Amino acid sequence: MPSQDMPELPEVETVRGGLAPVLEGHRLTRVEARRPDLRFPLPENFVQVLTGATVTRLTRRAKYLLAGLDREDTLVMHLGMSGRFEIERPEPGGGARAVRPGEFLYAAPPDPKHAHIVFETEAGRRVTYYDPRRFGYMALINTATLPLHPWFAGLGPEPLSEAFDADHLKAAFKGRKQGPKTLLLDQRIVAGLGNIYVCEALNRARISPFKAAGGISRPRLERLVTDVRDVLGEAIAAGGSTLRDYAQADGALGYFQHRFRVYDREGEPCLNAGCRGVVARRVQAGRSTFYCPVCQK
Ligand SMILES: [Zn+2]
Repeated sequence: MPSQDMPELPEVETVRGGLAPVLEGHRLTRVEARRPDLRFPLPENFVQVLTGATVTRLTRRAKYLLAGLDREDTLVMHLGMSGRFEIERPEPGGGARAVRPGEFLYAAPPDPKHAHIVFETEAGRRVTYYDPRRFGYMALINTATLPLHPWFAGLGPEPLSEAFDADHLKAAFKGRKQGPKTLLLDQRIVAGLGNIYVCEALNRARISPFKAAGGISRPRLERLVTDVRDVLGEAIAAGGSTLRDYAQADGALGYFQHRFRVYDREGEPCLNAGCRGVVARRVQAGRSTFYCPVCQK
């Protein structure tokens, strides 16, 4: 860890919750791009547009962080596989202490050579973006046309929104021979779900990841919607509590370790009530699916 499946929606939401108090309503007094690109080239006017801008809101869409600005553009940030933010804050008596919003299990201390982007606010906070593998990216996108941008135009509903319900899944799965695992990972059907939480939700709903999605009954889809919401909601709640803990004591944020019921638990007992199955793993297109062959039908 962090595995190739990190971060997912709850981790991004945890990062958002950690950054929001530092950025929302604050003016960026200094912005530094230490390299011209992350996964993609940074806009040429990146530093120029952001310097002096005030972050009006920090929101999330799918796995994107959206920093609304008192400018025409929104700063769009994606953590990729290894992106992370650190917040440095002044300590009484001088010096600075680092806070890591949404840090992943066993994350090593960041190497300064991977500090690519630095934001400083008028309040004296410094937010540094680290990304050793540079799969993350940032862009400035016109706020008025943001929903039409290719990264956002085709996205399905947020899994925690009202629009994600059994009716929506029934229509999206209709006649489909692919498994629900594949379809739930399709960002056009639901935005922001990744491998880990899809495996978890399907296990709770006792639905086989591989069965033809078009044949799943409506009551089971209702159950699936509830389970998707629950696994995400619980992880976000755990992330929020680690942020509070972290404000009091330094230490690794290990909240993922005990949260997974099937993910990365091959060969261990299924935790569903009354099930004596053993968690299995099947690899498809380089991604591991963890599931219980006994209770997931
Ligand atoms: Zn089971």
